[in-house]
Amino acid sequence: MTTNYDCIIIGGGPAGATAATLLAKHGRSVLVLERYAFPRHHVGESLMPQTYWTFKRLGVLDKLRQSDFVTKESVQFVTASGKESAPFYFTDRDPNEWSKTWQVRRDEFDKMMLDNAEANGASVIHGANAREVIMDGERATGVRAMIDGKTREFTAKVVIDASGQSGLLSRQLGLREPDQKLKNASFYAHYRNCEMEEGRNAGATIIMHTRDRNGWFWWIPLKQKDRLVSVGVVAPPSYLCTGRGDDPAMTLDEEIGNCPGLQSRLAKAERIGKVYVTADFSYRSRRMAGDGWVLIGDAFGFLDPVYSSGVMLAMKGGEYAADAIHKALTDGDTSGARLGAFGQRFVAAMQTIRQLVYAFYNEDFSIGQFVRENPKYGDHIVRILIGDVFNSEVGAVFDVMGQRIELPGPIELEEGIIA
Ligand SMILES: Cc1cc2nc3c(=O)[nH]c(=O)nc-3n(C[C@H](O)[C@H](O)[C@H](O)COP(=O)(O)OP(=O)(O)OC[C@H]3O[C@@H](n4cnc5c(N)ncnc54)[C@H](O)[C@@H]3O)c2cc1C
Repeated sequence: MTTNYDCIIIGGGPAGATAATLLAKHGRSVLVLERYAFPRHHVGESLMPQTYWTFKRLGVLDKLRQSDFVTKESVQFVTASGKESAPFYFTDRDPNEWSKTWQVRRDEFDKMMLDNAEANGASVIHGANAREVIMDGERATGVRAMIDGKTREFTAKVVIDASGQSGLLSRQLGLREPDQKLKNASFYAHYRNCEMEEGRNAGATIIMHTRDRNGWFWWIPLKQKDRLVSVGVVAPPSYLCTGRGDDPAMTLDEEIGNCPGLQSRLAKAERIGKVYVTADFSYRSRRMAGDGWVLIGDAFGFLDPVYSSGVMLAMKGGEYAADAIHKALTDGDTSGARLGAFGQRFVAAMQTIRQLVYAFYNEDFSIGQFVRENPKYGDHIVRILIGDVFNSEVGAVFDVMGQRIELPGPIELEEGIIA
């Protein structure tokens, strides 16, 4: 087996699989080092419709159409008292296939995506635990990994870190910074025999506040079979993880009891599998690229789960990185400035979603009420919920919203990497 590649990608999640497929389609030699055997569990099951265009380039639309994943056509919000907002239907503004998307079981989805990368020519090693990006001064030149208990070294012209929340390279280079205002934890599980809606609403993501607004729940219908739904609570760790005892299932049950919107939906339901816990997931890296390296997906940064933007941003980052690396290799210039040329555009899109995230967490503000008072901005909100945040003017909504509430300042990348 060769140990020298055009590109090595650490991590075979949606970001890594997207970059690997597109680089292989560009004719580049690619190696993906993935720690686990697939399928493996992962959080992050609700997609945004804008993933459609990346799926099209990857050639997986038919697989998704033929899958038994539930179709998502809208997002709905439920208040602390249980009052339901009108759903924000994506297809109302643009009645086409690309305005809908899928709610996915990540074990199945991630395997399908990584298998597709392999089918397109990428090499994938499962059970490869990357330990270190090998640096020659400022330049990344390869990856050291543990495989079958042995240390192996692989070299490449470019290394992509797509290792998700592990963030191997951003930690190695000390680039990671938490988003101080979005300090949250989450407890979540899958339930069967849930009260799922019919027809157009069957696959709606529902965001429900708990009674005292200490936290919120996601409701993500996954499969009609067994009426399977993903349910998770998000709240500050100071509330969710303090004085609760050792059993995460008890904490989740307590919070379900605090959420009026869930009572009828879970009345006959039964939890299957374990309750997962995660915390401190909102952060970003001060840089997106350097000489011979690029960070994509959660390895670069993660905003917040509320609008289900993680996989869309991970795939978009993978797409941008693959195209930038292909061009950089063609021109023989893999400097950070070249590889990170898309960084500014990417973080501007991330910032659009981040502003709406801050609005959601503002206790004195209701997005539903804002839209009722400013109907012409309803379309902007729906476009953000779709993920239409690249090349778009949707940011204008924040000029008006910013007069009502405090919104976060821009995301800045360190100088020197933006072309
Ligand atoms: C509570 C919560 C809820 C969320 N809900 C949603 C949602 O509904 N919709 C949505 O779009 N997003 C959601 N997200 C975000 C979503 O999970 C991520 O944004 C998305 O998975 C990022 O994809 P990725 O490819 O960057 O990373 P990952 O999907 O995490 O993939 C990284 C891969 O790298 C591998 N890896 C890690 N370290 C190493 C190593 N050292 N060597 C080799 N391999 C390694 C891992 O095994 C993994 O397979 C949620 C996140 C949280 C925390």
